[in-house]
Amino acid sequence: MNFDLSDEQKNFLGQVDRACRSIREHETVCYLEERPNEMIVPEFGKIGMLGCPISKKYGGLGYDILTYAFALERIGREGNSLRTFFSAHVSIGQMVLQNWADEEQKRRYLTQTTSGKNIMAFALTEPDAGSDPRSMKTRFEESSDSFILNGKKHWVGNGTLAQMMTTYARGPDGRISAFIVDTDSKGFHAKEMKNKMGLLSIKNAEITFENCVIPKKNLLGTKGKGLSIAYSALIDGRLSVAAGAIGVMKDCLDESIWYSQKRIQHGSELAKKQLIQEHLSSMILNIESSRWLIYRTAVARQKLHDYVEELKEKDTNWQEKLNREDKQYETLRAKADRLAAVSKLHASNAAFDCANRAVQIFGSFAYQKTTRVARHFLDSRAIIIYEGANEVLKLKIASLELGDKYEAY
Ligand SMILES: Cc1cc2nc3c(=O)[nH]c(=O)nc-3n(C[C@H](O)[C@H](O)[C@H](O)COP(=O)(O)OP(=O)(O)OC[C@H]3O[C@@H](n4cnc5c(N)ncnc54)[C@H](O)[C@@H]3O)c2cc1C
Repeated sequence: MNFDLSDEQKNFLGQVDRACRSIREHETVCYLEERPNEMIVPEFGKIGMLGCPISKKYGGLGYDILTYAFALERIGREGNSLRTFFSAHVSIGQMVLQNWADEEQKRRYLTQTTSGKNIMAFALTEPDAGSDPRSMKTRFEESSDSFILNGKKHWVGNGTLAQMMTTYARGPDGRISAFIVDTDSKGFHAKEMKNKMGLLSIKNAEITFENCVIPKKNLLGTKGKGLSIAYSALIDGRLSVAAGAIGVMKDCLDESIWYSQKRIQHGSELAKKQLIQEHLSSMILNIESSRWLIYRTAVARQKLHDYVEELKEKDTNWQEKLNREDKQYETLRAKADRLAAVSKLHASNAAFDCANRAVQIFGSFAYQKTTRVARHFLDSRAIIIYEGANEVLKLKIASLELGDKYEAY
């Protein structure tokens, strides 16, 4: 596999780099004031990053998933808070529509989001159904022209900003379906979740569906296949976490090198102390052991994408075909799923370890959220929990190898 960048990729990543630098100072202010950064949409919108991996047909840049992962890696340097915005809007937002929506839904919804006019979110988790979405309580009923949703979701990233989100509910037959929800729908309520530990420039919401009316045309994919859609979204969510984590680790390393070379204790720079060098070499080990794994995951995810897109061109009943047994689809999906779980598990732990080491090198100077390393430390704690808590990912990775009958969760 060749991960060398083409001139086109270099040019795009240069633009992402400049956008990151242009919002850096303001991102710090927003983080400390615990409010969303209003520069994100204009600055990243003008370079197309708000629809980086989305087809040009719907206003995106049409980049491959590896290029998108490189962009998320760069964004991750500015912190998981900023990267989480892109995860919610693009990875588990737009990409769910790109993968599963019908043509009319894509034209109606995707084009609004690649321009940044509308923001997206993904609402799966419930107060009583976190690691186990199969136990969700949100229900839908059907009337002649609409679905009526009742229930509660929480922790929805971008949830108070979004104009649309996908959500998941159980029907009268017990099966779970996916829906596209306009957040101005009757019976939709979003409330900001306060007092968070980190990720302070992104907003998370508790969502209540109170007889929320969703038009029939907003069913996403095949009725009863909602969990499969949600799980496929999590492949992209995990890849986003993992790619962003590389950026976090690189930033922690750079900050630690800079600080340890200027801080003098016991007569010489910290960088000359062997135990400090051990922290630095562990960070480098974390970075290098994560990067290639994640790039490989992006390539596996791209192969899955290409296969499905080809099928869509050839067969209007492509969803039916995938729902029945399609061996090649299942093989490609299983590989992307496995690698995304491994990448997220490894890189989230690695990023938290790097941030922890960086805080230690900075000593008391890192005990304030004004430092980048303190923010990386607080924000990296979240990535061990969301997009599949790491314990559950360990069980998933083992059962993918052992087979379904060994599933231990
Ligand atoms: C900052 C943040 C942002 C989020 N953003 C979103 C979002 O945009 N959309 C969305 O839908 N959700 C979102 N979530 C929710 C997130 O996906 C869930 O928090 C996560 O899936 C874990 O669920 P839980 O918190 O209910 O923990 P639980 O499922 O209750 O798990 C608690 C602990 O028990 C462990 N555990 C659970 N089951 C097992 C088992 N079988 N064996 C061993 N250990 C187990 C878990 O690993 C975890 O450590 C977000 C969460 C956070 C914190």
